[in-house]
Amino acid sequence: MKTIGIIGGMSWESSAQYYAIINRAVRDRLGPSHSAKILLHSLDFGPIAAFQAAGEWDRLGEIMADSARALEAGGADCIVIATNTMHKLADRVEAATALPLLHIADATGAAIVAEGHARVALLGTGFTMEQDFLKARLAERHGLEIIIPDAKDRGEVHRVIYEELIAGKILKSSRDAYCGIITRLSARGAQAVIFGCTEIGLLLSADDSLLPVFDTTWLHARAAAEFALKP
Ligand code: GLU
Repeated sequence: MKTIGIIGGMSWESSAQYYAIINRAVRDRLGPSHSAKILLHSLDFGPIAAFQAAGEWDRLGEIMADSARALEAGGADCIVIATNTMHKLADRVEAATALPLLHIADATGAAIVAEGHARVALLGTGFTMEQDFLKARLAERHGLEIIIPDAKDRGEVHRVIYEELIAGKILKSSRDAYCGIITRLSARGAQAVIFGCTEIGLLLSADDSLLPVFDTTWLHARAAAEFALKP
């Protein structure tokens, strides 16, 4: 079995999900006593969130590259960035080591295409919804048309992530707000919704959503387990 290197802590609430999903996948495949070989390099999200808000992406690129190098030195066989937003720096991470980067958009795009959807909504941080680093990869490599919420709804999705979910605060009012946003995206023609932030699955489940859900945390973590188990 290969060793999965995770750049995590962004937030640790979602890194804990990665840890559980990967270990369950390995146990399901290899038997009840088995668990995954994982190196988790968990960063302090406080300064990272501040650098994001200040637009200090170059500095964040250095932090992410250092983290990837630490995982490579520790013996990781691949790199997993356990957040959608920080895939903005995927190129910097990829260039920092000789290890393959398991990109969150590829795990997600492949699953959506396999279900036959073409027009999908994306929920995530403002960075992820408004910038191109994830949307362009989903469009160019997977042929998907991506719909994002209007500006007011984007603000609410972003606010809930940074003010509540990363702090482990799960509020029914926010779940209801997200459900309303998904309903509006459905009315605009979305066939499914991407939970394009690794904490959204903590707030609502597929059962809460009017549209079929593609949860990047689950898909990315499962892809990492698949990689580790491949002979
Ligand atoms: N975990 C989140 C994501 O998937 C947001 C936190 C971050 O900015 O990394 O985008």
